[in-house]
Amino acid sequence: MVLHNKRMMYAVRVDQPNPQFATMLLEQFGGPNGELAAAMRYFTQAWADPDPARRDMLLDIATEELSHLEMVGQTLVQLLKGSPGAEVDEVEKFVEMSLTSGPTILGGGGPRLTDSMGTPWTAASIDSLGQPEADLRSDIAAEARAKIVYERLIKLCDDAGCKDTLTFLMTREIAHQKMFEAALDAIPKNFPPGTHTLAHQYYKDSENGGAHPGYDLAEKTGGFGFELIDDPVAGAPTEGAL
Ligand code: MN
Ligand code: MN
Repeated sequence: MVLHNKRMMYAVRVDQPNPQFATMLLEQFGGPNGELAAAMRYFTQAWADPDPARRDMLLDIATEELSHLEMVGQTLVQLLKGSPGAEVDEVEKFVEMSLTSGPTILGGGGPRLTDSMGTPWTAASIDSLGQPEADLRSDIAAEARAKIVYERLIKLCDDAGCKDTLTFLMTREIAHQKMFEAALDAIPKNFPPGTHTLAHQYYKDSENGGAHPGYDLAEKTGGFGFELIDDPVAGAPTEGAL
């Protein structure tokens, strides 16, 4: 059950209407890394998760993402509200031209569920698999992307009130990323994902004048002690179970 608290999670403030920036901000409303996508990603994962604590975390974060959607939606409305008609027309024209078909972003003065290019929101951007180790890694990456998109929007924003709201939202995505990292760490033997595994064996199957910078990078930063095999045929993968 989700209870409706009438307050915003954080005060939404826009100092000046700005339909151009509203167009860019749509990316976090109906875009692939936006708030609706985040909420749907975590709700659907949570409902199927057998682990009570992880399920709870996913439901909590999913619910929070809906409150982010509310904040972004309200910010969009304020960015559009009171915009000079000519400016809005200009943006409408631009978006209409950039679409092959379909609606403009400013339908009725409310935000539409599209990304910044006018592409309608789609569940295709949610890549859940129903396997916690794989899904948590994808969730961590999704939060990282959301953070970066907010960071880019903040750089493009010259409105102090709007910047403040976006900065709050950006920091929440960092918090979520850290929570999902903690949830992944809480799974003993979470790598490789699943129960069927191969031993740590890596083949020297690329050559660049005797150098193997890719392997060297993995060795240096991971310190796994990867075994490099000169003749791939000689070393067959060994199967084992976690
Ligand atoms: Mn969010
Ligand atoms: Mn998030």
